[in-house]
Amino acid sequence: MLQRFFAALRANYGVTVFFLYLGAFAVAFVGTFTLPLLAIGMVLLAIFLLVPAVLLGDLIGALSRWANRPYIRRGECPRCREQQGPAWEPPVYRCAFCSAAWLPDGDPEDGPSAVPAEPALSSPSNDAR
Ligand SMILES: [Zn+2]
Repeated sequence: MLQRFFAALRANYGVTVFFLYLGAFAVAFVGTFTLPLLAIGMVLLAIFLLVPAVLLGDLIGALSRWANRPYIRRGECPRCREQQGPAWEPPVYRCAFCSAAWLPDGDPEDGPSAVPAEPALSSPSNDAR
């Protein structure tokens, strides 16, 4: 439960922050004509919130890795929860059922941008891609 929450949060965090900044840009653009002080304040706020946004993304990544590691240690795929056979070994843990790949620290093999999508509810062998 917690692992799937963090995986979904991690998968969507970058896009969410991007669209928040895009929306703030639209507000600030209108503000340049109506209330210039608002636009100036938003530019300063955007600059100073960039570091906390990156740190929050790192925190979400760390929590996601932390939530994935117990599954990897138990020999279960964090994505589809299938018990793996003897092929489940480092350096890259590759699931025989959904072909997701995991590093020993809990990261997806292809980095944070490649966080696998949630599996289909019916069958773990149903790959959405
Ligand atoms: Zn799997």
